[in-house]
Amino acid sequence: MNKKSINFWITSNAAVEVVVRCCPYCDGEFYELDDHELEECPLCNVEFDKEPMKQSYDSSTYSLIVDHKTGIPSVIKMSEYEPVERDIDPVTTE
Ligand SMILES: [Zn+2]
Repeated sequence: MNKKSINFWITSNAAVEVVVRCCPYCDGEFYELDDHELEECPLCNVEFDKEPMKQSYDSSTYSLIVDHKTGIPSVIKMSEYEPVERDIDPVTTE
């Protein structure tokens, strides 16, 4: 399978940080964005009075990018893309 190429030197990007949490009340697992915590369990609807336990953390699978011409953001799966290497000019000392 050919990977799509992406040039991160001209594509502003940020890691999408996805956290798996475990509800202390129903023991159910759910996903949320890191630093954007839910205030209620999406499974049992209890309001959290203590922070649900962090089970695992993934910041390398998905990236958020924005099209520099249109401003339209999208989320890409990193494994489907091959980053373009920047052409490195031979170092010239002056
Ligand atoms: Zn729950």
